Amino acid sequence: MSNPLSSIVSITKPISGVYSVDFQCKIKEFEKLSQVIASDLEHLENPEDDDMWLNQLIDIKLQVKNVNLGISMPHVSGEVRTSFFLACQNCLQTIIKKIELPINLILCDRDREDDSNNKYDYWEILGDSISMHNLIEEILILSVPLYTKHEAEKECLVFSETEVTDGETLHSPFSDLKNQLNNKK
Ligand SMILES: [Zn+2]
Repeated sequence: MSNPLSSIVSITKPISGVYSVDFQCKIKEFEKLSQVIASDLEHLENPEDDDMWLNQLIDIKLQVKNVNLGISMPHVSGEVRTSFFLACQNCLQTIIKKIELPINLILCDRDREDDSNNKYDYWEILGDSISMHNLIEEILILSVPLYTKHEAEKECLVFSETEVTDGETLHSPFSDLKNQLNNKK
């Protein structure tokens, strides 16, 4: 059976009917996405086991059909779900972030942000076609947060460390110097 992600969506050659993708794959099957996550995980204090995050499953449930918006355009809808391992920028420990992306995209070859039709999001592609693999990879890369930190304070190690640092600032570096000066008298 061929991989459904290798199918091509074209904006110039409309399909008839509905093409459904119900597929599971792993993060490691997306090379650029893996690189983005790997560079985020470089910030970790203790390196993460690569097999753990590379083997996270990606659930892909999508439908592709053509809709008529003056001209016939490909519409991709459904949901993509996975979990990213990322580094908390506060405490440099691992966060496992659940990713659930509702998809409702019209593929187009120029920026149509100002289009009066707000029912869909517009996704600009280079050229006149894109593979399902590349489309899903682009969507997933854009969903990697630029700045991640633990949402609950109790999960984040940095808060207990802050208290320790506050205590240390009570020791002024000048107190020793003052003692030395007093002894010279
Ligand atoms: Zn944290």
